Amino acid sequence: MERSSELDRIRIAIDGPAGAGKSSVARAIAEKLGILYLDTGAMYRAFAYYAENLAEAGEIDEEKAEELFRDFDLKFADGKVLLGDEDITQVIRTPRIDKAVSPYASNPFVRKQMVSLQRSIGQDTDIVMEGRDICTVVLKDSPYKFYLDASVEERARRRFLQNEQKGISEDMEAIKADIIRRDEADMNRQADPLRKAEDAIVVDSTDMSQEEVVDEIINKTLEIKNAL
Ligand code: C5P
Repeated sequence: MERSSELDRIRIAIDGPAGAGKSSVARAIAEKLGILYLDTGAMYRAFAYYAENLAEAGEIDEEKAEELFRDFDLKFADGKVLLGDEDITQVIRTPRIDKAVSPYASNPFVRKQMVSLQRSIGQDTDIVMEGRDICTVVLKDSPYKFYLDASVEERARRRFLQNEQKGISEDMEAIKADIIRRDEADMNRQADPLRKAEDAIVVDSTDMSQEEVVDEIINKTLEIKNAL
């Protein structure tokens, strides 16, 4: 008889502060293991982009969020993030959306919808998900939990280099200030704040290459799997 229990599924959960390299690491892990990758930050960013484009949005309460959500048509296809037919992959990663996203991500209605979407995407599949509440809420029953951290200076430096590659110029101090502000907002909000899950393995990537981080997470995952 086929043993298809929850334990056979590999659902890797990665949380951590802004700019810790979660997206690149999670994408590389998913590629190496040949499993799905879900960038949950992209979902909050897409909602922020969508709401900001509707001039009347501004600070929204739960009721307004519910109203806006009705026409929020988000899709992931071929590694792209689509809002209706619009490819928003790049625009949601600009400083404008870095600055706009926190209030939307703190909205309890928005979070409830996103968590439920994320859970349904991960329901019957092996997956790597990264964000702020993946270990503590979305995949809290997964045995594969990681908290990816790095010093704020290193995170700002990496974001600066990423921006440079995209042709975005923002000075290092502004990037650092924005990272600190976003971390504070994420850690101090009421709904699903960022915190390290008690059973998450901490990986401090300050002095590690991306490849080292990827290998470390894959090795730990396999160790945990073998011990189950
Ligand atoms: O990871 P990324 O920087 O793309 O996330 C953008 C924002 O989305 C974060 O600053 C955070 O406020 C929010 N977020 C969240 N929960 C997640 C993923 C992202 O609140 N699971």
